[in-house]
Amino acid sequence: MIDVTSQPPMHHYQFASDNYAGICPEALEAMAAANRDYACSYGDDPWTERACALLRDFFETDCEVFFVFNGTAANSLALASLCQSYHSIVCHETSHIETDECGAAEFFSNGTKILLVPGENGKIDLDAVQHTVERRSDIHYPKPKVLSITQTTELGTLYSLDELQAIGDLAKRLSLRVHMDGSRFANALAALQVPPKEVTWKAGVDVLCFGGTKNGMAMGEAVIFFNRQLASEFDYRCKQAGQLASKMRFLAAPWIGMLESGAWLRYASHANDCARLLESRLREVPGISIRFPRQGNAVFADMPPQILDGLRNRGWHFYTFIGAGGARFMCSWATTEADIDAFARDLREVAGT
Ligand SMILES: *Cc1c(COP(=O)(O)O)cnc(C)c1O
Repeated sequence: MIDVTSQPPMHHYQFASDNYAGICPEALEAMAAANRDYACSYGDDPWTERACALLRDFFETDCEVFFVFNGTAANSLALASLCQSYHSIVCHETSHIETDECGAAEFFSNGTKILLVPGENGKIDLDAVQHTVERRSDIHYPKPKVLSITQTTELGTLYSLDELQAIGDLAKRLSLRVHMDGSRFANALAALQVPPKEVTWKAGVDVLCFGGTKNGMAMGEAVIFFNRQLASEFDYRCKQAGQLASKMRFLAAPWIGMLESGAWLRYASHANDCARLLESRLREVPGISIRFPRQGNAVFADMPPQILDGLRNRGWHFYTFIGAGGARFMCSWATTEADIDAFARDLREVAGT
């Protein structure tokens, strides 16, 4: 037996990712509730039905809902259902589907090409999108079909309601379908404080990959098709890709726990608030600068190598390979003010201030 209790405690020593956190009580209790009795398999159960109904209420529309195990599957299978292999997907150069999914979007779509556009603060530049789509119309160019955006972005920033509407308008004009990678969509909603429908289907989003994992679940993302026609045979696609859970109720039940209790919003707001506090602590230290507007639950900072090393030597975890460099500090539902205080204390000590 592996004695996990002999490992050094990690909880208070990480800002690496929101997926380092455990399962929040509301999600765990919902799984326990779904575990009390037998249920039909492959999604033909009352938990899945209820979770789908709650998500339809949440978005105030009759969308098609599917549950898959993780974000890479959600994104790549959703994208594959939006395009043919000779099409292309336009997205930001730092997007997760380009840099962190091991080519899954191309693989599951049988070779659909990803076309990258730049843009400040992790957000696509709309002129660049238009140029990328319109610069060629001949048969030799992979026909642009999908515009993929991430909300909140990989750099912890946020598309505003106006920006989303502009994206939706442009996509319509260019005959592009819109995919939203919402692995941190809850954090975006907490920050924007608008009804979910305003920043999704009303702004022209065809399919949203709504993240549960980083919000506090054990695993699982909901693929939400606002454009129901695009969901045709998506169940087969999931099955073939190994993403049809036979005990589906355990992917679905946490959504019930999160949505009915409002925990999704409480935790997302909490994570955002923690990031705000962490940002202010980082700003107090000379030699440290903040990279992007902090709008969600991530803070990106530039700091001298000796501070980075000093923090690592004291057991702090964080990433330095995301986006365009810098150290990324990510807060979650489980982050505490004490975590931030302890981090700030170590930070001041290693910085010698
Ligand atoms: C975490 C994340 C995902 C999902 O990643 P998986 O590890 O496949 O669950 C998708 N998009 C973004 C922007 C992410 O940060």
